[in-house]
Amino acid sequence: MTTKPTLRPECGDCFALCCTALGFARSADFAVDKPAATACPNMAEDFSCAIHQRLRPRGFRGCTVFDCFGAGQVVSQRTFAGTSWVDDPSSAASMFAVFKVVRQLHEMLWYLAEAQQRTFDPDLAVAADGLSRRIATTALGDASAILGTDVESLHAEVRTLLMEVSEEVRAAYAAEDKDAPDGGPCAGADLMGADLANQRWCGVDLRGANLIGANLSSSDLTAADLLGADLRGTQFSGADLSKALYLTQPQVNAAEGDRRTLLPPRITTPDHWE
Ligand code: SF4
Repeated sequence: MTTKPTLRPECGDCFALCCTALGFARSADFAVDKPAATACPNMAEDFSCAIHQRLRPRGFRGCTVFDCFGAGQVVSQRTFAGTSWVDDPSSAASMFAVFKVVRQLHEMLWYLAEAQQRTFDPDLAVAADGLSRRIATTALGDASAILGTDVESLHAEVRTLLMEVSEEVRAAYAAEDKDAPDGGPCAGADLMGADLANQRWCGVDLRGANLIGANLSSSDLTAADLLGADLRGTQFSGADLSKALYLTQPQVNAAEGDRRTLLPPRITTPDHWE
Protein backbone atom coordinates (compact mmCIF):
# COMPACT_ATOMS: atom_id res chain seq x y z
CA MET A 1 0.00 0.00 0.00
CA THR A 2 1.41 3.38 -1.03
CA THR A 3 2.01 5.92 1.71
CA LYS A 4 0.71 9.34 0.77
CA PRO A 5 3.03 12.13 1.92
CA THR A 6 1.84 14.93 4.17
CA LEU A 7 0.97 18.02 2.16
CA ARG A 8 1.70 20.57 4.88
CA PRO A 9 5.14 22.20 4.99
CA GLU A 10 7.37 21.19 7.90
CA CYS A 11 10.07 23.85 7.52
CA GLY A 12 12.17 22.51 10.39
CA ASP A 13 12.83 19.34 8.36
CA CYS A 14 13.68 21.20 5.14
CA PHE A 15 17.02 22.53 3.90
CA ALA A 16 15.37 25.86 2.99
CA LEU A 17 14.72 24.62 -0.54
CA CYS A 18 12.18 27.34 -1.34
CA CYS A 19 14.73 29.95 -0.19
CA THR A 20 17.47 28.49 -2.43
CA ALA A 21 16.12 26.50 -5.38
CA LEU A 22 13.67 29.16 -6.53
CA GLY A 23 14.57 32.58 -7.87
CA PHE A 24 12.63 35.82 -7.51
CA ALA A 25 12.79 39.32 -8.94
CA ARG A 26 12.71 42.59 -7.06
CA SER A 27 9.07 43.68 -7.07
CA ALA A 28 6.12 44.41 -4.79
CA ASP A 29 6.55 40.83 -3.50
CA PHE A 30 10.33 40.72 -3.01
CA ALA A 31 12.71 43.43 -1.83
CA VAL A 32 15.71 42.03 -3.74
CA ASP A 33 16.62 40.06 -6.85
CA LYS A 34 17.65 36.47 -6.15
CA PRO A 35 18.63 34.06 -8.93
CA ALA A 36 17.44 30.44 -8.72
CA ALA A 37 19.85 27.95 -7.07
CA THR A 38 21.35 30.59 -4.76
CA ALA A 39 20.72 31.10 -1.06
CA CYS A 40 18.58 34.08 -0.02
CA PRO A 41 20.66 36.64 1.93
CA ASN A 42 18.12 36.35 4.78
CA MET A 43 18.64 32.60 5.20
CA ALA A 44 20.33 31.69 8.49
CA GLU A 45 22.94 28.93 8.87
CA ASP A 46 20.34 26.57 10.34
CA PHE A 47 18.16 27.07 7.20
CA SER A 48 15.66 29.24 9.07
CA CYS A 49 14.62 32.72 7.92
CA ALA A 50 16.27 35.53 9.89
CA ILE A 51 13.32 37.87 9.22
CA HIS A 52 10.50 35.34 9.49
CA GLN A 53 8.38 37.51 11.83
CA ARG A 54 8.89 40.65 9.70
CA LEU A 55 8.62 39.38 6.13
CA ARG A 56 5.83 41.71 4.99
CA PRO A 57 7.21 44.93 6.51
CA ARG A 58 10.65 44.06 5.11
CA GLY A 59 9.24 43.74 1.57
CA PHE A 60 9.10 39.92 1.28
CA ARG A 61 5.34 39.45 0.96
CA GLY A 62 5.95 36.76 -1.67
CA CYS A 63 7.54 34.52 0.98
CA THR A 64 4.36 34.67 3.08
CA VAL A 65 2.31 33.52 0.09
CA PHE A 66 4.46 30.60 -1.07
CA ASP A 67 3.66 27.06 0.10
CA CYS A 68 5.55 23.94 -0.98
CA PHE A 69 2.69 21.50 -0.19
CA GLY A 70 5.13 19.55 1.97
CA ALA A 71 7.64 18.93 -0.83
CA GLY A 72 10.58 20.49 1.04
CA GLN A 73 10.76 18.02 3.90
CA VAL A 74 10.24 15.00 1.62
CA VAL A 75 13.08 16.00 -0.70
CA SER A 76 15.38 16.92 2.20
CA GLN A 77 14.75 13.96 4.47
CA ARG A 78 13.67 11.18 2.13
CA THR A 79 15.02 11.72 -1.38
CA PHE A 80 18.37 13.02 -0.09
CA ALA A 81 18.31 11.11 3.21
CA GLY A 82 18.89 14.10 5.48
CA THR A 83 22.17 15.26 3.90
CA SER A 84 21.90 18.93 3.01
CA TRP A 85 23.27 20.75 -0.04
CA VAL A 86 25.63 22.52 2.40
CA ASP A 87 27.09 19.24 3.66
CA ASP A 88 27.25 17.83 0.13
CA PRO A 89 27.47 20.71 -2.36
CA SER A 90 27.66 18.22 -5.25
CA SER A 91 24.00 17.33 -4.58
CA ALA A 92 22.73 20.92 -4.74
CA ALA A 93 21.75 21.11 -8.42
CA SER A 94 19.95 17.77 -8.31
CA MET A 95 18.22 18.57 -5.00
CA PHE A 96 16.93 21.90 -6.28
CA ALA A 97 15.68 20.33 -9.53
CA VAL A 98 13.97 17.49 -7.64
CA PHE A 99 12.30 19.98 -5.31
CA LYS A 100 10.71 21.82 -8.24
CA VAL A 101 9.22 18.56 -9.57
CA VAL A 102 8.06 17.20 -6.21
CA ARG A 103 6.38 20.50 -5.38
CA GLN A 104 4.25 20.10 -8.53
CA LEU A 105 3.49 16.47 -7.67
CA HIS A 106 2.41 17.42 -4.16
CA GLU A 107 0.19 20.17 -5.50
CA MET A 108 -1.52 17.55 -7.70
CA LEU A 109 -1.97 15.35 -4.63
CA TRP A 110 -3.62 18.28 -2.83
CA TYR A 111 -6.21 18.65 -5.57
CA LEU A 112 -6.78 14.92 -5.97
CA ALA A 113 -7.44 14.49 -2.24
CA GLU A 114 -10.24 17.02 -2.52
CA ALA A 115 -11.62 15.51 -5.72
CA GLN A 116 -11.71 12.09 -4.07
CA GLN A 117 -13.53 13.50 -1.06
CA ARG A 118 -16.01 15.74 -2.91
CA THR A 119 -17.16 13.48 -5.74
CA PHE A 120 -20.49 11.65 -5.42
CA ASP A 121 -19.40 9.08 -8.01
CA PRO A 122 -17.64 6.02 -6.52
CA ASP A 123 -15.85 5.35 -9.82
CA LEU A 124 -14.39 8.86 -9.85
CA ALA A 125 -13.32 8.45 -6.22
CA VAL A 126 -11.49 5.23 -7.12
CA ALA A 127 -9.87 6.92 -10.13
CA ALA A 128 -8.73 9.86 -7.99
CA ASP A 129 -7.30 7.52 -5.38
CA GLY A 130 -5.47 5.44 -8.01
CA LEU A 131 -3.94 8.47 -9.69
CA SER A 132 -3.04 9.93 -6.33
CA ARG A 133 -1.23 6.74 -5.29
CA ARG A 134 0.67 6.65 -8.58
CA ILE A 135 1.81 10.25 -8.09
CA ALA A 136 2.68 9.64 -4.44
CA THR A 137 4.85 6.66 -5.43
CA THR A 138 6.72 8.88 -7.88
CA ALA A 139 7.15 11.70 -5.36
CA LEU A 140 8.57 9.27 -2.82
CA GLY A 141 10.95 7.64 -5.32
CA ASP A 142 14.62 8.32 -5.93
CA ALA A 143 15.99 11.48 -7.54
CA SER A 144 16.53 10.04 -11.01
CA ALA A 145 12.99 8.62 -11.16
CA ILE A 146 11.56 11.95 -10.03
CA LEU A 147 13.56 13.89 -12.60
CA GLY A 148 12.44 11.46 -15.32
CA THR A 149 8.75 12.03 -14.56
CA ASP A 150 6.52 13.24 -17.39
CA VAL A 151 4.97 16.01 -15.31
CA GLU A 152 3.00 17.50 -18.19
CA SER A 153 1.26 14.21 -18.89
CA LEU A 154 0.37 13.82 -15.20
CA HIS A 155 -0.93 17.39 -15.15
CA ALA A 156 -3.21 16.54 -18.07
CA GLU A 157 -4.58 13.42 -16.33
CA VAL A 158 -5.18 15.32 -13.11
CA ARG A 159 -6.78 18.26 -14.90
CA THR A 160 -9.29 15.98 -16.66
CA LEU A 161 -10.29 14.29 -13.44
CA LEU A 162 -10.60 17.55 -11.50
CA MET A 163 -12.81 18.99 -14.20
CA GLU A 164 -15.12 15.95 -14.13
CA VAL A 165 -15.54 16.23 -10.37
CA SER A 166 -16.01 20.00 -10.59
CA GLU A 167 -18.81 19.67 -13.14
CA GLU A 168 -20.49 17.04 -11.01
CA VAL A 169 -20.26 19.03 -7.78
CA ARG A 170 -21.21 22.37 -9.34
CA ALA A 171 -24.19 20.79 -11.13
CA ALA A 172 -25.99 20.73 -7.79
CA TYR A 173 -25.85 24.56 -7.89
CA ALA A 174 -26.68 25.06 -11.58
CA ALA A 175 -29.76 27.10 -10.70
CA GLU A 176 -27.50 29.73 -9.12
CA ASP A 177 -25.35 30.00 -12.28
CA LYS A 178 -28.06 31.35 -14.51
CA ASP A 179 -28.28 34.50 -12.40
CA ALA A 180 -24.66 35.47 -13.13
CA PRO A 181 -24.75 38.75 -15.10
CA ASP A 182 -23.16 39.03 -18.56
CA GLY A 183 -19.46 39.57 -18.09
CA GLY A 184 -19.81 38.22 -14.56
CA PRO A 185 -17.98 35.35 -12.94
CA CYS A 186 -17.03 32.49 -15.26
CA ALA A 187 -13.94 30.41 -16.03
CA GLY A 188 -11.00 32.56 -17.12
CA ALA A 189 -12.92 35.82 -16.63
CA ASP A 190 -11.01 39.04 -16.08
CA LEU A 191 -12.65 40.31 -12.90
CA MET A 192 -9.77 42.41 -11.64
CA GLY A 193 -11.12 44.87 -9.06
CA ALA A 194 -14.75 43.78 -9.64
CA ASP A 195 -17.35 44.32 -6.93
CA LEU A 196 -18.83 40.87 -6.35
CA ALA A 197 -19.63 41.34 -2.67
CA ASN A 198 -22.70 40.18 -0.72
CA GLN A 199 -23.86 37.64 -3.29
CA ARG A 200 -24.29 33.89 -3.67
CA TRP A 201 -21.76 32.58 -6.15
CA CYS A 202 -22.48 28.94 -5.32
CA GLY A 203 -21.40 26.51 -8.03
CA VAL A 204 -19.91 29.18 -10.27
CA ASP A 205 -16.89 28.21 -12.39
CA LEU A 206 -14.07 30.64 -11.57
CA ARG A 207 -11.29 28.37 -12.82
CA GLY A 208 -8.33 30.48 -13.91
CA ALA A 209 -10.24 33.74 -13.33
CA ASN A 210 -8.37 36.96 -12.64
CA LEU A 211 -9.80 38.14 -9.32
CA ILE A 212 -6.90 40.41 -8.36
CA GLY A 213 -8.23 43.07 -5.99
CA ALA A 214 -11.86 41.93 -6.49
CA ASN A 215 -14.30 42.33 -3.63
CA LEU A 216 -16.02 39.10 -2.60
CA SER A 217 -16.74 40.20 0.97
CA SER A 218 -19.65 38.41 2.65
CA SER A 219 -20.26 36.27 -0.47
CA ASP A 220 -21.05 32.57 -0.47
CA LEU A 221 -18.61 30.58 -2.63
CA THR A 222 -19.88 27.11 -1.81
CA ALA A 223 -18.88 24.72 -4.62
CA ALA A 224 -17.32 27.59 -6.60
CA ASP A 225 -14.40 26.19 -8.62
CA LEU A 226 -11.35 28.34 -7.82
CA LEU A 227 -8.72 26.17 -9.50
CA GLY A 228 -5.85 28.42 -10.54
CA ALA A 229 -7.82 31.63 -9.91
CA ASP A 230 -5.59 34.61 -9.18
CA LEU A 231 -6.65 35.77 -5.72
CA ARG A 232 -3.94 38.34 -5.06
CA GLY A 233 -5.47 41.04 -2.89
CA THR A 234 -8.97 39.60 -3.33
CA GLN A 235 -11.15 40.67 -0.43
CA PHE A 236 -12.92 37.80 1.35
CA SER A 237 -13.90 39.46 4.65
CA GLY A 238 -16.93 37.64 6.00
CA ALA A 239 -17.06 35.35 2.92
CA ASP A 240 -17.86 31.64 3.05
CA LEU A 241 -15.06 29.68 1.35
CA SER A 242 -15.49 26.63 3.55
CA LYS A 243 -16.78 24.47 0.69
CA ALA A 244 -15.11 26.23 -2.26
CA LEU A 245 -13.54 23.81 -4.76
CA TYR A 246 -9.79 23.47 -5.24
CA LEU A 247 -8.77 26.35 -2.99
CA THR A 248 -5.10 26.25 -1.97
CA GLN A 249 -3.09 27.74 0.86
CA PRO A 250 -1.01 29.99 -1.46
CA GLN A 251 -4.22 31.44 -2.93
CA VAL A 252 -5.54 32.22 0.55
CA ASN A 253 -2.17 33.61 1.64
CA ALA A 254 -2.29 36.03 -1.29
CA ALA A 255 -5.86 37.14 -0.52
CA GLU A 256 -7.34 39.33 2.21
CA GLY A 257 -9.86 38.24 4.80
CA ASP A 258 -10.74 38.46 8.46
CA ARG A 259 -11.84 36.39 11.43
CA ARG A 260 -15.31 36.00 9.93
CA THR A 261 -14.01 34.39 6.72
CA LEU A 262 -14.88 30.70 6.65
CA LEU A 263 -12.12 28.47 5.24
CA PRO A 264 -11.92 24.74 4.44
CA PRO A 265 -10.43 22.65 7.31
CA ARG A 266 -7.19 22.02 5.35
CA ILE A 267 -6.51 25.77 5.02
CA THR A 268 -4.85 27.80 7.78
CA THR A 269 -5.86 31.40 8.40
CA PRO A 270 -2.92 33.58 7.28
CA ASP A 271 -1.16 35.56 10.03
CA HIS A 272 -1.71 38.84 8.20
CA TRP A 273 -5.51 38.43 8.46
CA GLU A 274 -5.34 38.87 12.22
S1 SF4 B 1 13.26 36.19 3.04
FE1 SF4 B 1 13.29 34.43 4.41
S2 SF4 B 1 11.55 33.10 3.72
FE2 SF4 B 1 12.00 34.57 2.07
S3 SF4 B 1 13.42 33.46 0.70
FE3 SF4 B 1 14.66 34.67 2.14
S4 SF4 B 1 15.14 33.26 3.84
FE4 SF4 B 1 13.42 32.38 2.68
